[in-house]
Amino acid sequence: MKKDVSLTDLISDLNIAHDYDPNAMSVEQAKVWIANFLNPIDQQETIHIKNALHRILAEPVISPINVPNHDNSAMDGYAINTTKLGNIGPFALRVTGKLFAGNQIEGNTKEAIRIMTGAMIPSGLNAVIPQEQVELNAGLIIFKTKPNVNQNIRQIGEDINCGQTILQRGRCLKACDLGLLASIGIDSIKVYRKIKVAFFSTGDEIISLGNPLLPGQVYDSNRYSLIGLLKRLDVEAIDLGVIPDNKKIIEDTLKKASDIADVVISTGGVSVGEADYMKEILKKIGKILFWKISMKPGRPLAYGKIGHSHYFGLPGNPVSTMVTFYQFVREAVLTLSGQTPIPKIPLIKAKLLSPIKKVPGRREFQRGIYEKDDEDIFKVSPLKDQGSGILRSMSEANCFIVLQEDTAHLEKDMWVDIQLFDSLF
Ligand code: AMP
Ligand code: MG
Repeated sequence: MKKDVSLTDLISDLNIAHDYDPNAMSVEQAKVWIANFLNPIDQQETIHIKNALHRILAEPVISPINVPNHDNSAMDGYAINTTKLGNIGPFALRVTGKLFAGNQIEGNTKEAIRIMTGAMIPSGLNAVIPQEQVELNAGLIIFKTKPNVNQNIRQIGEDINCGQTILQRGRCLKACDLGLLASIGIDSIKVYRKIKVAFFSTGDEIISLGNPLLPGQVYDSNRYSLIGLLKRLDVEAIDLGVIPDNKKIIEDTLKKASDIADVVISTGGVSVGEADYMKEILKKIGKILFWKISMKPGRPLAYGKIGHSHYFGLPGNPVSTMVTFYQFVREAVLTLSGQTPIPKIPLIKAKLLSPIKKVPGRREFQRGIYEKDDEDIFKVSPLKDQGSGILRSMSEANCFIVLQEDTAHLEKDMWVDIQLFDSLF
């Protein structure tokens, strides 16, 4: 596959890339083509770490301190100097001092000091004996075994060394990272700004919530599925509503969307019957490719640029919208956001509980219900209704059964790959 073909070249002459076939793009091929045109954003902003969950780090974080910044006790017990002990126990030492975390020593370190977890080890002492391992008698501690040097002492820099890179650029920050940043005293960090995604539904028959439904009309569900899908990606989502199949209004909406967003998503209007109409509008305002992807559900897909923004025209059938979003838009948004590496969705092997009918040729994302048996083996049943308009199938299912292009019919007990919805939606 030729990777340095520009969108403009490709649109003017589809033959410049010998393996580019808009009428039979595999899922993988289409992803590679799209990836070709995606450049991560570079605008950054500085934010407080308390607002940084799921944000993408724009620069590596280097620790300015050692953690811990001093040797300290890992236990409540007694700190001693092992070099002062003979070789054969039992040993008896007088308690000559007391030290609590964050406090100054009371007394001295001549023999043993009572020490609490987190308290700094005074110089001259080199081990901590847990309190459970000593007998206390008239101001003396008595213990049988000689402790090892550094026993129960947390060493300076044992968690993090001063100068160590603890988080890489491109990291999507997790809860533990926020704590880690705090542990090195960093309260604000540079992150990439959030990706802005504008989206709208198209169709004369599509009705917004709150309106009565007349015969032949359907409520707009795609926009709500998208709101949920986008929430998971932590983008700035811009809802542009439902747009009728009207050239002028669609054109105006696409222009407006591309002015304010990095990614524009429309649903509907790219299927064979309607594509010509969208093609005409998009040709006028952007550089768009129309593809027939060899996948099911979700065959038609449009991708291209309108101004600086990336445009995805997803098929209108509610299941197709979700599957194509997940296959193409998710990865594109993550790439644009600056996240590296992009987390791959794991494929898990599962045993089929009933046969599946499939014709070779397309990659299928069937909806299934998996369970784990007593031996922790995944088993999966495909749902009966696999129509691309049956949104209930997404809701009832808890996984995709991913069937590769060359797969044909599958019998019960055969192994298939599944992707758990928990990791996707
Ligand atoms: P289209 O891709 O526009 O040809 O639409 C394919 C099918 O999906 C049609 O039956 C539409 O009514 C339906 N559809 C399109 N958009 C939506 C939407 N936003 N919500 C629910 N159904 C839709
Ligand atoms: Mg339509």
